[in-house]
Amino acid sequence: MILDSAWVVAWLTAAADAIAEQAPTLNELDREIGDGDHGENMNRGFEAVRAALGDGAGGSTPSEVLRAAAMKLISSIGGAAGPLYGTAFLRASDAVSGRDELGSRDVVELIDAALRGIEERGHAVPGDKTMVDAWSAAATAARAASESGGDAREVLQAAAGGAEQGAASTDALLPHKGRASYLGERAVGHRDPGAVSTAVILRAAAEAAA
Ligand code: ADP
Ligand code: MG
Repeated sequence: MILDSAWVVAWLTAAADAIAEQAPTLNELDREIGDGDHGENMNRGFEAVRAALGDGAGGSTPSEVLRAAAMKLISSIGGAAGPLYGTAFLRASDAVSGRDELGSRDVVELIDAALRGIEERGHAVPGDKTMVDAWSAAATAARAASESGGDAREVLQAAAGGAEQGAASTDALLPHKGRASYLGERAVGHRDPGAVSTAVILRAAAEAAA
């Protein structure tokens, strides 16, 4: 598939499907080191995105569709994750504005911009046991795939794999941000729910491009 606005719609629709399926797991992860609502929050947000994107309503470029999604995520996810994902998709939109089709380097820039937006908004760094661990591993893997000549689809596959590894890496970490930080050592051994939802969303991006 060409990475145009239809791909962004396919990505976000696949993400909404996957988040709906994974919502109980995300709630369960958040019950262990937070307040148990991450799946519910994400599902509400992505269902709002799904509803907003019907019949080309989101726009005709990748940037426009990403922006429409960001607005829905900001207004409907809530919690800590809402503004973070909203900022991620807004920055992703800005990173690819003016382009009708995205190539491998555009995908790298999109993911980098999302990561930087989350870091600026939430002041977490890699190793703090948050969604930043998944986004930063995704960005690193995406850049490596692009630099070694991968096409946009391969870059997305690398990003999804990176995000999954980044999410798994949070098991061993001590939390420094968000609700989990109140638990200290008791959170070690548990996986960060926002890192897992990030991996779900980036896997959907790769699958929509395949
Ligand atoms: P809340 O914590 O308000 O209940 P959610 O449960 O929806 O919100 O989201 C929790 C997730 O948000 C965490 O798993 C973590 O990945 C992410 N998170 C929380 N605070 C931060 C932060 N400052 N920077 C990055 N991510 C964060
Ligand atoms: Mg929560």
